[in-house]
Amino acid sequence: MFIYFLLHIACKSTIVFPMKIMLQFPEGLKRNAIAKAKELEAEGHIVFIASAPCYGACDICLDEARAVGAQKIIHFGHAEFMPIKSDIEIEYVPHYETIPEENLHATMKKAIVELKDYKKVGLVTTVQHIKQITDVEKLLVAAGKTIITEKGGVHVRHQGQVLGCDAISAVLAAKEADCILYFGGGKFHPLGIPALKPVLVADPYLGSAYWITQEIEKLRKRRQGAILMASKSKRFGIIVSTKVGQFNLSGAALVKKKLAEKGREGYLLVSNEIHPISVANFNSFDAYINTACPRIGDDHDVYDKPIVDLTDFKRLLELMV
Ligand code: SF4
Repeated sequence: MFIYFLLHIACKSTIVFPMKIMLQFPEGLKRNAIAKAKELEAEGHIVFIASAPCYGACDICLDEARAVGAQKIIHFGHAEFMPIKSDIEIEYVPHYETIPEENLHATMKKAIVELKDYKKVGLVTTVQHIKQITDVEKLLVAAGKTIITEKGGVHVRHQGQVLGCDAISAVLAAKEADCILYFGGGKFHPLGIPALKPVLVADPYLGSAYWITQEIEKLRKRRQGAILMASKSKRFGIIVSTKVGQFNLSGAALVKKKLAEKGREGYLLVSNEIHPISVANFNSFDAYINTACPRIGDDHDVYDKPIVDLTDFKRLLELMV
């Protein structure tokens, strides 16, 4: 009976077992690291903070955690990207922004003016704004719009969510919608949306609404140009990232094989983070095939050589004689 009593007490109270914990924050949230470390240390944990840049939930600091013997990683800012097989527990703590109501209303007022010629609006956002997306939707519906939201690919967790590498929710919405509205800050995410329909950005940080369709098209044309130039290349660097959500060695090996079949040389360039200058120092490659984050090619200018993403590799092979 006494044992049952003890078990009952144990279940009712929160027992914290001291652990070695690695904290990981994206750049914009690193300012919160010390407060979180203090909180966990006060609970008796041994805390480490990953200091390398972190770009997304594809980028989990497993190597650092292993090196210090951490039993758990707490990854802040992003929702889970994919299941990761690891002996280290990974907890995701997404960051949700709360845009003050007056800013949200002022931004959407401008967006609604821009949307005057469009009835059906495909609505997308990032995980940071997912909790306020219903407020955005209500304002659009009150303005007479029909809202379309879709669920994206395997790496997203919410209806209407986009990632820099996963705009499937926008692509699906574009089938029915007259235009796409991206709600959120910055250009990185909306530039990843294919311009199948006009794309409007409602940026609550700038308090503005602007069309980004032409910039998306410009990027697409640049990609096409890179494929054409690379098709004439002889020696390729095949970029492989060891970041857990970007690692694609089998894809890279297949690229090397297919290049060889076309009489081209391919070399696997492996690193955790891709540094354009380090890669350029080989001074050996006519072009690159990127098997890592598909947005690496956005920095086309700093590589000084054409970069073709793996998703465009089939097209590249077709162009090779
Ligand atoms: S692969 Fe690139 S775009 Fe996708 S989550 Fe990672 S850093 Fe972001």
